[in-house]
Amino acid sequence: MFASHVIQRTNKTGEPVGSIVFIKKVRKSQVAMMAEVAQVKLSYSIINDDSATQNLLVLNGGIQNEGIATERQRILLDINGNPLLTMNIEHHHQRLPVLFDLYLIIILIMFFVASLIGFFVVNRFFITPLINGASAINLMLLKNDLQPLHFKNQFLEMRVLINGFNSLIKEVKKQNEQLEKISKIDELTQIYNRRAFEEIYTLQWHDAHNQKTTLGLMLIDVDYFKLYNDFYGHQEGDCALQALCRVLKETAKSNNGIAARYGGEEFIMLFNQLSFEQFELISQQLRKNVNALKLPHKGSKVSDVLTISVGCAFATAKAMDNESITAKSLIKDADVMLYEAKNTGRDRALIKSI
Ligand code: GH3
Ligand code: MG
Ligand code: MG
Repeated sequence: MFASHVIQRTNKTGEPVGSIVFIKKVRKSQVAMMAEVAQVKLSYSIINDDSATQNLLVLNGGIQNEGIATERQRILLDINGNPLLTMNIEHHHQRLPVLFDLYLIIILIMFFVASLIGFFVVNRFFITPLINGASAINLMLLKNDLQPLHFKNQFLEMRVLINGFNSLIKEVKKQNEQLEKISKIDELTQIYNRRAFEEIYTLQWHDAHNQKTTLGLMLIDVDYFKLYNDFYGHQEGDCALQALCRVLKETAKSNNGIAARYGGEEFIMLFNQLSFEQFELISQQLRKNVNALKLPHKGSKVSDVLTISVGCAFATAKAMDNESITAKSLIKDADVMLYEAKNTGRDRALIKSI
């Protein structure tokens, strides 16, 4: 029994006519549910002997400061304060709330899988292309050969980055080409400068030496050019040098040779794999072509027009085996011939064949 109450008449006599009895059955399943909710082990026993429960606290008596205990007993009273049941409450460690229940584990697994997918996407489409790109750039820098990147990427940000880099490379290459051209080409005459000539000459000398082929050099000096400047002014002198160099360039182009400004009004030309006869013909033709420009030269003591003196040195295939003949000595030979051309009347080409 949980509670009982007397039923009285309501006609003011208050005469008792019966009792109302409340019976609440405590089922095992309810206790099990309470234990589940409270996360403790609960059991109960029906009280037969009241005296045994006298020192026990009631179940709804509030929290008492009893210290820590793994097991307690409480009594459950009916509405009249009579003991009904003894509740045994055990705080077994296995009944403590679990930190990792199934839901939390599922959430954690989902979070882990989502992170894994995120990492895979970021790694596949961002980190790996960036690492590959950085390696490719490092390799280019090591080889000193800048090239555009050719990675394909689905993400706009990466494509913007790659396109930006490629535009930069294009610009750098363009500037490098311009810089190389500036560093190799003489500004006034637009033919190779002396530095570029030295580089090309060294390479061609080695080729001719290894392959035992001929090499021909021409040193060209304008006759009485100081007087040309004196007569016509320095600017006209510049124009005359430009006209002369157009002839040199043309001659070089049509004979697979090169022309370079060696210094001031002195120029140098290099031809490979020609026979002596071909080389000699070119030197004579060159001189004639300069005369044919018909640039008036009143200061000249050899002609009415601008003329050149040419000193030529021709190294035969056989000479390439001679160790005393070097790239330097061939230039010296051409210089000697130029000196001789000047001393023997100018407006001429003299050749030394070695
Ligand atoms: P030679 O026949 O003996 O060679 O007599 P030259 O007067 O030509 O020789 P010289 O070495 O006495 O004079 C060379 C002149 O070339 C002097 C210099 O002012 C002139 N010259 C050198 N470079 C340039 C240039 O870039 N422009 C002009 N206008 N003149 C130059
Ligand atoms: Mg001169
Ligand atoms: Mg000179």
